[in-house]
Amino acid sequence: MSDGAKGPSPATRAITAGRSQQGSSLTPPLWATSVWQTAGLDDTRKRATASRADNFYSRYANPTVRAFEEAIADLEGAEDALAFASGMGAVASVVFGLCSSGDHIVAARQLYAGTNAFLLGPCARMGITVTWVDGTEPGAFTAAVVPGKTMLVIAESPSNPRLDLVDLDELGAITGPFTLVDSTFATPIGQQPIGHGVDIVLHSATKGICGHNDATLGVIAGPRELLAELWAYAVLHGACASPFDALNGLRGVRTLAVRHRHQSTTALELAVAMSSHPGVNAVHYPGLPDHPQHELAARQLTSMPAQLAIDLAGGVDAARVTLDSLRVARSATSLGGPETLVCHPATSTHVSLLPEDQAAIGITDGLLRISVGLEEPADIIADLCQAIPS
Ligand SMILES: *Cc1c(COP(=O)(O)O)cnc(C)c1O
Repeated sequence: MSDGAKGPSPATRAITAGRSQQGSSLTPPLWATSVWQTAGLDDTRKRATASRADNFYSRYANPTVRAFEEAIADLEGAEDALAFASGMGAVASVVFGLCSSGDHIVAARQLYAGTNAFLLGPCARMGITVTWVDGTEPGAFTAAVVPGKTMLVIAESPSNPRLDLVDLDELGAITGPFTLVDSTFATPIGQQPIGHGVDIVLHSATKGICGHNDATLGVIAGPRELLAELWAYAVLHGACASPFDALNGLRGVRTLAVRHRHQSTTALELAVAMSSHPGVNAVHYPGLPDHPQHELAARQLTSMPAQLAIDLAGGVDAARVTLDSLRVARSATSLGGPETLVCHPATSTHVSLLPEDQAAIGITDGLLRISVGLEEPADIIADLCQAIPS
């Protein structure tokens, strides 16, 4: 559907965006080069000193990567985007690009464990302090901001692994520090945080954006000037995106809307089926009407996530049996791809967290995260139903 005044809808823009680098070719050329020849000293100097200089050296910029960045900026309604070698490359570059020793960060407890570990380890070592808040608690981020000292507020919504939501309007209304939302679980089709006033949106494009489990890629989108500043740091940090992965990222963008809608519809069907399974104690999916944040989800998500989490009555033993009994779905940690993947966060994605920190964000020993794939919905549902012990 297109929204008259606003122009083409995201599904259409996913097809039209990011084409300025490819001429009349329908897909962008793969610029598999690390370096370009220059026209002598003056030209070299110009390229070496330009912000985000194209056609100079691929750590600075690459036309294939640029095509992917343009597409993401378009979909997020942002002025610009900047791609990285991975989601964590993006996280590390933003945090170290903005924060210095003595600065303060407010972060949601509900975070990807790699981001959590980065804030606890390297940041602490560099003298950057962090206040942890419950991202689902109204007003928690705002209350934790220390004026003049807080440089960055980091949230993730929907969060990994339990799909908890952060109120994006509330986050976007914070003034002073920069606000960042890791929007990986939503994808640029499911929500657009910048429209809520958030400064930076971040994706592990490894997940739903690339969408085929065949690339490792990260991306941020936000104001042009801020991204130019972050680029100046990112060039030194060196976690630049590979043109090959960016090409796969752009290919993923083209089919993102249809994949995401399909997976999201299946995820809701699976969530409903799981709700009546005798071996399941609780289902965490914001698309379910009885989810505690369903109203907020309906307000800020333009389509529901392709992931859900379930709490097994039989704890870790039931989780082990389930993973061993899958026939269609697979035991693996990633998400957003064509294969339905099931993981046990307590012993995989979030194994680095202390038991009390796992408990604080609802990671029980019976919690399974499911990333719904593109198999026939009935096959996915039947598989999970047979695998989970009653
Ligand atoms: C996977 C993931 C990341 C890290 O991305 P990589 O591409 O694996 O570095 C960050 N945030 C979320 C929510 C993720 O799921």
